[in-house]
Amino acid sequence: MTGQELREKFLRYFESRGHTRIAGSSLVPHDDPTLLFVNAGMVQFKKVFMGEESSACQRATTAQPCVRAGGKHNDLENVGYTARHHTFFEMLGNFSFGDYFKREAIHFAWDFLTKELHLDPQKLWVTVYQDDDEACRLWEEVEDLPKGRIVRMGEKDNFWAMGDTGPCGPCSEIHLDQGPEVGCGRPDCRLGCDCDRFLELWNLVFMQFYRAADGTMTRLPRPSIDTGMGLERVAAVLQGKHNNFDSDLFTPIIDRIAEISGRRYHENGQDDISMRVIADHARATTFLVADGVLPANEGRGYVLRRIMRRAIRYGRTLGLSDFFHDTCALVTELMAPSYPHLKNTAGLLQQVASHEESRFGATLDQGLLRLDQEIERLKQAQGDQARLDGEFIFRLYDTYGFPVDIVRDAAIERGISLDEQGFDRAMERQREMSRKSWKGTDVSHLEAGVLELDQQGLKSEFTGYEATSGPARIL
Ligand code: ATP
Ligand code: MG
Ligand code: MG
Ligand code: MG
Repeated sequence: MTGQELREKFLRYFESRGHTRIAGSSLVPHDDPTLLFVNAGMVQFKKVFMGEESSACQRATTAQPCVRAGGKHNDLENVGYTARHHTFFEMLGNFSFGDYFKREAIHFAWDFLTKELHLDPQKLWVTVYQDDDEACRLWEEVEDLPKGRIVRMGEKDNFWAMGDTGPCGPCSEIHLDQGPEVGCGRPDCRLGCDCDRFLELWNLVFMQFYRAADGTMTRLPRPSIDTGMGLERVAAVLQGKHNNFDSDLFTPIIDRIAEISGRRYHENGQDDISMRVIADHARATTFLVADGVLPANEGRGYVLRRIMRRAIRYGRTLGLSDFFHDTCALVTELMAPSYPHLKNTAGLLQQVASHEESRFGATLDQGLLRLDQEIERLKQAQGDQARLDGEFIFRLYDTYGFPVDIVRDAAIERGISLDEQGFDRAMERQREMSRKSWKGTDVSHLEAGVLELDQQGLKSEFTGYEATSGPARIL
């Protein structure tokens, strides 16, 4: 089953059970300064869960584009290293707004996975929140779930919250045991291990509480259901793969990167990481630009810039330059049948990607050389204890435009550590200095993309009073 077929099958399944199909929202949260990017399907329904807005329907189903890079849920550093994390992914979800609750949510999820997708119940495990006896009992009633497969877990894994504040609740998750040959291979590897063996497929959140900024929890007006299942993970499973990047949602992108770099996928571990990161980051870039985010030096735009620059640096390790716009164009082509709005920004995306690559490319090689020399020097002087200094990392940022991620990737590759706290302190110092010296509005830093939008007559709205940072919102 292709990823696209799976998405459609999921939405149809829930439609035929009384759910209204609703389009995923923009990645830039509407009217929500507490959140950097939409990181789950429930975000567009936050106010409905809180009882502040009413919904036209009691049950809904969505395929929600999500970005987890920065903020509470941040998978940027996982990408390339685990088989299951992306910065951009699609979350399939079913929602009940005060309609059904735990029993039906559990039934739907189990029925869909085992009867519609034919996953083998013998390989499935379930987790519940440690105090949630009700969920535990309901799972015990599921006949074909083998005995001993319900595991109680603590707050970290089984209490879901979108951010530090907002709707939240205990959850129950369904995991697939992919077998001991997948993952870390340690004899004590079991559910909850960080490796890829036990793959978390689906999270059923029993939305019951609202957490305020001071940490107090109040009950939501009507207990509701919010679920999220990762499209890429389940697609890979159905296609018999143990790595999301080997599913049909990624292979055409990886094939293209292999082709233009003249290297083969699955031949060299380091090259594989590079190809996966580029494929992932091209998807994130394509969808973020389509939702009006442009590379910038702060806020959402800086997260995008970090993503783009990380991909461009990985391109260099494959001998690629002037390539990223092409990868993004391919993503547009592949995803536009499901997300037609991508076509509207295809031209802008080309410009933004090319511009970022030529701008960063101009200093990248020099910066990499500096970084290499420093790593060599430290290794010689300090051996295994070698550690990159925070001030040095800051100079790479300041002089060559290196986001810290790039330094981290290079340090991991070369087996040395880095002083990220020292870097954060240096950044804070610089922010403080620029706050003090700020005199007025300077537009000389405007990016090509913004200028183009301006020429097209699109106006931006200042959101600085509600949001601490963020892109211009396209009107
Ligand atoms: P994990 O523990 O694997 O990091 P999570 O607990 O952070 O996942 P949830 O917040 O519960 O994930 O999100 C619901 C579902 O979305 C997950 O069960 C998974 O299938 C999918 N998902 C979460 N994060 C990612 C990601 N970075 N890339 C791809 N799919 C993801
Ligand atoms: Mg996670
Ligand atoms: Mg988890
Ligand atoms: Mg989870």
